Amino acid sequence: MRPAGDTMRRTAAAVLIAVLAPAAALYGWGQRGHRIVGDIAQERLTEVTKRNVRSLIGNNTLASVANWADQIRPERDETYNWHFVDIPKDTQGFSDSRDCYRPQDKHKGAKDDHQNCVVDRIEYFKRVLGDKNASRGDRIEALKFIIHFVGDIHQPFHAIEEAKGGNGVHITEFGSDRCGRYPCNLHSAWDSGLIEHTGMDEEAYVAHLEQLISEEHLRASGNPADWANESFALAKAAWVNDGGRAVWTLLHPLRLCHFLLVRLHHHGDYKAN
Ligand SMILES: [Zn+2]
Repeated sequence: MRPAGDTMRRTAAAVLIAVLAPAAALYGWGQRGHRIVGDIAQERLTEVTKRNVRSLIGNNTLASVANWADQIRPERDETYNWHFVDIPKDTQGFSDSRDCYRPQDKHKGAKDDHQNCVVDRIEYFKRVLGDKNASRGDRIEALKFIIHFVGDIHQPFHAIEEAKGGNGVHITEFGSDRCGRYPCNLHSAWDSGLIEHTGMDEEAYVAHLEQLISEEHLRASGNPADWANESFALAKAAWVNDGGRAVWTLLHPLRLCHFLLVRLHHHGDYKAN
């Protein structure tokens, strides 16, 4: 039999993932999006999970550590591909053997990494987080990776291979083809452009989403492979070609939220422990 503490830890890890899922369905992505995922998850932690989280990150909030994985990316080259999954556009969906082993990739460790995608890494770090034999340092990192990756996997263009997840597709965003210093592209429109365009700050977004979640009685469901497939389907639906326009009515993130949340409605439970 497993010691109770171990079971509790593993349950807490599962609950944490469950509470992150619906928030991440709404956002992922840019810094503000990742913080919002953390804010909404934080509100749903059970007492046991709260204690476990506190024992790892002290008084830091989930929002405050939600962007850590992007910050360390430059010096942790082996983590590069963990933020997304390249599902080929002409396929039916995610395949672990095809999409999570990338031996040709130039990033560090790729030749031996058979979990080189966001789907496998969420599963992997979930195991580390619940492993009583893992070091404290590893479990802290696992927590921070999970918070970030559950956000990333819900960004539709983190789940499609074509044109580097839409990074190579130049578009016009709200009448302009320049986004700051760079030409606008499809991927970054979804990372941050569309969110910024709503004019809502972090607090306003969280309030709006909380209202949506409660009105629709929404709950988490599915597993990382399901989320990748949902994102992949959305990316195909929202695809535009080079020179196209990010169409507000189709790409508005709040519309997307609603669409995804309705589908999240049926399974899972925020309080599942
Ligand atoms: Zn990321």
